[in-house]
Amino acid sequence: MASLDDYRKIVGDEIIGKIFKAATPLLGKRVIHLNSTYQGGGVAEILTSLIPLMNDVGIDVDWKILHGTLDFFTITKKFHNALQGEKLNLSEIKKRVYMECNERFSVYTHIDHDCVIVHDPQPLPLVKFFRKKQPWIWRCHVDMSNPNPELWAYLKLFILRYNEVILSNENYFKQELPVPQSCIYPSLDPLTPKNKEISDKLISKTLSKFKIPTDKPIISQISRFDKWKGTESVIEVYELVKRKVDCRLVLLGSMATDDPEGPMLYEKLTRRVMDNKDLILIAVENQILVNALQRVSSVILQKSLKEGFGLTVSESLWKGTPVVGSCVGGIPLQIIDGKNGYLVDPKNTEEWVDRVTEILRKPKLRSKMGDFGREWVKKNFLITRQLLDYINLLQRVINI
Ligand code: UDP
Repeated sequence: MASLDDYRKIVGDEIIGKIFKAATPLLGKRVIHLNSTYQGGGVAEILTSLIPLMNDVGIDVDWKILHGTLDFFTITKKFHNALQGEKLNLSEIKKRVYMECNERFSVYTHIDHDCVIVHDPQPLPLVKFFRKKQPWIWRCHVDMSNPNPELWAYLKLFILRYNEVILSNENYFKQELPVPQSCIYPSLDPLTPKNKEISDKLISKTLSKFKIPTDKPIISQISRFDKWKGTESVIEVYELVKRKVDCRLVLLGSMATDDPEGPMLYEKLTRRVMDNKDLILIAVENQILVNALQRVSSVILQKSLKEGFGLTVSESLWKGTPVVGSCVGGIPLQIIDGKNGYLVDPKNTEEWVDRVTEILRKPKLRSKMGDFGREWVKKNFLITRQLLDYINLLQRVINI
């Protein structure tokens, strides 16, 4: 397992020194992270790297996963959708299932830590079921630019009990919320199998294992099967691009255990790609495959309708691959239009086609964008920066 020292050669001594120094007052403090999945999606991805590093610097950090039923996760996915602006029938029954699941979990979960960090709406009500003896932080990863007002009013009942709210973008701050809000950017871990350097031999072996030929340029989107990711409309863009430049589309996706909508969308996509040899749909959880595909693609698309942050964008940029992404949520923090990719309105199909075609046709532009993208991520979106942000936050919130 990587230790903080291993990051020196990538990020330099200065930030590593800063992290150890900032962590000193927190040595031996006990912190717990609570969320609802250990696999699938950006939150699990971040916690898998962040928590061992927090321990490595000397903070005692635990991680627990809320145990949800299918009913519970069906409801919380609806809440997730509504936080991103969809309509919701907020019935008493939904509220009951939501509360009961959290209450049940609280009975066999003992919290005597110095600080509690709760991720996303699923475990949000837990704060109500404990005698609060320490600061609680709610870390929300979803695109909160335009939440459904009824749901927001309901969730506020719990949020008001928290000491701090962390969001992924300053644009999501809520003026009327009388709880301190701060922004921490998600980030990638350059040493995981998904992001580390891999050899050309391993890339070829992995692509052939998953039957991805490389005789034509590849464009791809790598995302959970979720309607917010715009995957179906990526096919539409691809079909129009292919009329101009012969290429292949790879759609790689995974499911998260807390998202029951994933398998339905996957089924729908399977029917759509049937009998098209240049359109490859893959549903496996494989970090090396993500790594290889992000490196071998000529351009990556992230055609989301809403996006809390969109870690896949930084992951692709880190590998020197330009990204054409929607100008929504956290994507504009990562794509500097014209420098490391393009930002496009998710509904403007014509512009998507033009931008993707342009990058496919211009290898020099691709390589210039690739260089810029890697530097941009190195400067802003590596895990060491997020670690330092969390340590600074804990210093402020825990009463030392
Ligand atoms: N991911 C993956 N395999 C896939 C699709 C996605 O490992 O087939 C990972 C992806 O590499 C990224 C995370 O899932 O680390 C997705 O995070 P993001 O912030 O882009 O979106 P979220 O799923 O959290 O909405």
